[in-house]
Amino acid sequence: MPKPPKNIAPPASPWQPMDSQHDASGYLSIYYSDDLSSLPIRWVTKPGDNKSDPNLETFTYGLFSTCAPGMRAGAVKRRSKHLFFATSWKGERVLTGYYDLHWYAKGVLAENDFCLAANHARFIEQPIPLPVLDRKCNTNVSGWFRGVRLLTSSECLRVLEVLNEFPDKTADYLDEIDRLERFNLKHTGYRYPSFRKTDKFSWETAPSDLLAGSAASKLAKQEKVLNTSPSGLWKCDECSKLVKNKALLKRCPNCGTVGTLRPSARG
Ligand SMILES: [Zn+2]
Repeated sequence: MPKPPKNIAPPASPWQPMDSQHDASGYLSIYYSDDLSSLPIRWVTKPGDNKSDPNLETFTYGLFSTCAPGMRAGAVKRRSKHLFFATSWKGERVLTGYYDLHWYAKGVLAENDFCLAANHARFIEQPIPLPVLDRKCNTNVSGWFRGVRLLTSSECLRVLEVLNEFPDKTADYLDEIDRLERFNLKHTGYRYPSFRKTDKFSWETAPSDLLAGSAASKLAKQEKVLNTSPSGLWKCDECSKLVKNKALLKRCPNCGTVGTLRPSARG
C-alpha cells in the first residue's frame, strides 16, 4: 500500500516563521487572471500554461509554481508581512486581495528559491482599479510596471486598511477555482492539463519534495532559477524528455521529478 504523503503544512519543518518587522516593506504582485470567471481568480484555464499561484487553497506562493522568483526571494530577505495581489481585469489593473505572510521555506529549484505561506488572506468581490488605489492611499502603482512593485511599510498599512473595508470573499474565489478546474477536467481529463494534475491542490496531497530540506528533495545546484525558455520547451535532466509549457514547471509532467527541467532551444 502506498504511504500517505507527509503533511508539509506550516508550521511543520522545513517552514520557518517570517518574523516580520513592523516597518518591513511589502510587495504588490501581478498575476494572470481568468476571464471565464466572474471573480478575478488566477488563470486556471490558461492554454498550455495553467496557473497555480496565488494558491488560495494553501495560502502559499511558489510552492507549486515557479512564478515571481525575485519577489519571493525579496519578501524573505525583507521579512515582508504584506503581499498584495493585482491583475489585469476587464481592461485595467485592479487590486484583488492580500496575504499576511507568516512563514517561508526554501524551494528546490535554486539557492535563492523560496516558498511563501500566509496565515491569513483576504480577497474581495469588487476589485479596486489601481488609479483609484493611488488616489486613496497615495501610492504609485497605476503606472506600468512588470510583475512586482515594492511598497513601503506605511503604504502597506494604507492599502491594507482599504482592503479590510470589504468583506472577505476568499471562499467564493475557491469555489470559482474549483469550477474552472472542473471545466478543464471535463474537456481534457485534467484539472491542470499543463502539468497533468487530476486532483485539487491541498496540504493533504502536497508532496514533501516541493520543499528543500525534505528527504525526497535534492536542492538544485544552480544559483538562479532559469524560469524562461524562449522556445517554450524544457528538457528534463532526469528522463531527457522534452516538455512544452510557457512557464517553467516545478515538476516534470513525464517522470514526476521536481526541479529537473531546463530551458531547451528546440525540439
Ligand atoms: Zn522527467
